[in-house]
Amino acid sequence: MFDKILIANRGEIALRVIRACREMGIASVAVHSVADADAMHVRMADESVCIGPNPSSESYLSIPAIVAACEITGAQAIHPGYGFLSENATFVQVLEDHGITFIGPKAEHIRIMGDKITAKDTAKKLGIPVVPGSDGGVPDFASAKKAAAEMGYPVIIKATAGGGGRGMKVAQSEDELEIAFRTARSEAKAAFGNDEVYMEKYLQKPRHIEVQVFGDGRGRAVHLGERDCSLQRRHQKVFEEAPGPCITPEQRAKIGGICANAMAELGYSGAGTIEFLYEDGEFYFIEMNTRLQVEHPVTEGIFGVDLVREQIRVAAGEEMEFRQEDLKIRGHAIEVRINAERLPNFAPCPGKITQYHAPGGLGVRIDSALYDGYKIPPYYDSLIGKLIVHGRDRQEALARLNRALGELIVDGVDTTIPLFRDLLEDYDIQRGDYSIHWLEKWLARTYG
Ligand code: ADP
Repeated sequence: MFDKILIANRGEIALRVIRACREMGIASVAVHSVADADAMHVRMADESVCIGPNPSSESYLSIPAIVAACEITGAQAIHPGYGFLSENATFVQVLEDHGITFIGPKAEHIRIMGDKITAKDTAKKLGIPVVPGSDGGVPDFASAKKAAAEMGYPVIIKATAGGGGRGMKVAQSEDELEIAFRTARSEAKAAFGNDEVYMEKYLQKPRHIEVQVFGDGRGRAVHLGERDCSLQRRHQKVFEEAPGPCITPEQRAKIGGICANAMAELGYSGAGTIEFLYEDGEFYFIEMNTRLQVEHPVTEGIFGVDLVREQIRVAAGEEMEFRQEDLKIRGHAIEVRINAERLPNFAPCPGKITQYHAPGGLGVRIDSALYDGYKIPPYYDSLIGKLIVHGRDRQEALARLNRALGELIVDGVDTTIPLFRDLLEDYDIQRGDYSIHWLEKWLARTYG
């Protein structure tokens, strides 16, 4: 096992990893930008290194600075968290060249899944059901027209190099196709420096269902059920739950089994998430994330496992601690993302926290890097915390969430806390009846 791990991240996820390290008796190294000198992850780690100025391109994304911090402190492994360098195959390669262990999958698997066309092809070959769509990239408008006619309208045009919901355009009919195709291409070029696009059948009312997988890198893999992350604004998740309210145990076993077998065949190592759209009982693969997800705590809640601990163990070459038959779901968990944002437009709202009080009690977990007097810097993501609740069933989890939100105090900046209190009043949320388009419509109706 490692003696010391460096965490190449900030905020709540850096804390999350430090906590796992401490319980395992491993020393932790925090890295930070100038603006984050007083951040909680710096205070909580055993050691810290300033790796550069405020822009993440010069700090949290700087491979040379992070490798140097590792060498100075003698850390043997790096946990990347999510975002930043977590899905950067070059970073993994550089670490390998320096004899530093990357806590995550092999560079090759990150590369395969980072290119959406290759990812879809690979998924298909591994027996995972995919969304009907173009065979690979669509080079010009004539091919787009042909592909759309074959799959039928509406269609969605997506960037091969896409991420974060950018570069996607929907065309309801052939009239709309040309503009959608050209806009998607230019947006893809601007956002990712690569204008290759592909096409898919646009599903009308799907849910976003994702399967948590875990592999030992030596041909053994398991699944840890699914999460329903359909409540999204601009393709960004805001509320996640596990198990999925509409998924039966039979469906779970079937799709989970397919995913676990695929990962075993791939020789996948560590945590991963296979994302699907789900409509009328069918699953359609859209992408795979080769890292820990923001919403991993809901899975931890219902399975009673520590995914970060397991990531560290597997990266150190130890046996995977869980077997499929030991993984049993207990109850229901919900996570809400607390962002420093001002409603109704969700404008980022950095600033000083004048008062912070975290809720507690049975079944309540807060993953946050907030403290009284903390100044949220304007340079990074607006996620400032996650409130996760666990109950014996969905009803209890909802009641607990409402109770915990009532106790949570974050003063000094605007947050998304009021949004969740309003959402919980809605009958569709109470019944778990929503698709990926539900939240946008509700927001328009509720906040205008
Ligand atoms: P990104 O990597 O940018 O997040 P994804 O492929 O994961 O892109 O898609 C993000 C979201 O876009 C999905 O969760 C869903 O809301 C919507 N979406 C993607 N593909 C389709 C599709 N074929 N039909 C309907 N909605 C889609």
